[in-house]
Amino acid sequence: MKTPLYFTLQIDCEATQHSIRDPKLGARAIRGLGEICADAGIKATFQVIPSDLKAHHRIYQELEAQGHEIGLHVHPADQGYQEFLGVYGFEEQVKIVGEAMGLFAQHMGYRPRGFTPGYGSANDHTYPALESLGLNHGLVSIPTRNLPQCACVWGNSSPDLHYPHRYNRCLCGDVDFVDVPPTIDPSSRMWGGAHPQDLRVELVDAKNHWYTIQKSVLRQLSAGEKIPVKYLKAVTHNTFDYGDKRNFRRETLLGIIAAAKGICKAQGCRFVPATSEKIAGEYRKRVPLPRGGPILRLDTRGRAGR
Ligand SMILES: [Zn+2]
Repeated sequence: MKTPLYFTLQIDCEATQHSIRDPKLGARAIRGLGEICADAGIKATFQVIPSDLKAHHRIYQELEAQGHEIGLHVHPADQGYQEFLGVYGFEEQVKIVGEAMGLFAQHMGYRPRGFTPGYGSANDHTYPALESLGLNHGLVSIPTRNLPQCACVWGNSSPDLHYPHRYNRCLCGDVDFVDVPPTIDPSSRMWGGAHPQDLRVELVDAKNHWYTIQKSVLRQLSAGEKIPVKYLKAVTHNTFDYGDKRNFRRETLLGIIAAAKGICKAQGCRFVPATSEKIAGEYRKRVPLPRGGPILRLDTRGRAGR
């Protein structure tokens, strides 16, 4: 049987946040993305800040009825806190994210299961805080992103699906939360080297994204069963006019989807459109939550005379 390769698109929805304030653009973007997904047979995960949910909850309910996932995105400054989640301790993070979950439930009628912090900003308290709130999965880590000015430092954290470590956000461990990082090319650097080229639609054009997809697929396939659930995750924001057929980001997204399908076919994989929740669920089915974190052992192979 062909190896399944899951494909998902995540849209961080924040058109009403303080640095953008354009809810009409946000509405055009999410409606346009809904059309693109329907035409291409793709499933998306919309991670939405509470004020965008307030403005557009009817559209999100329609998108959910079409099989897309609606989850929670948090920019703490839009709730009256500092800009970055990763500067806060455990209890403050539980408060900030918990408040946003309450607002989400008011608009959507249920508590969110998926979560993404703004800027990938997190610290070692973040995953246990998300677990204590009952969140199930999300895009929290952005592997190799190094932006201390955004409290976002990830080192060489896992680029694959994983349960995070309880005390060290860069390690895998036993926190009951499945991290679903975006697809990245760690060796193609941007922003002065601080950020990896990732499948962020607006970052580069479709030609550049083709190489990131090809590299990620080959890496995952060569790992075999060491990567039990293989996937591609493109990301974007609802701050571009995806409703405009001539929009460059729309063309780029269509190019990413075509490239993913083409590379999947060329490698003999089965292309499986899915939400992040579905991909996290497949991981949970294949990989039981471990008890305790891994034991790290000192590598002494390079010591002279041994
Ligand atoms: Zn954001």
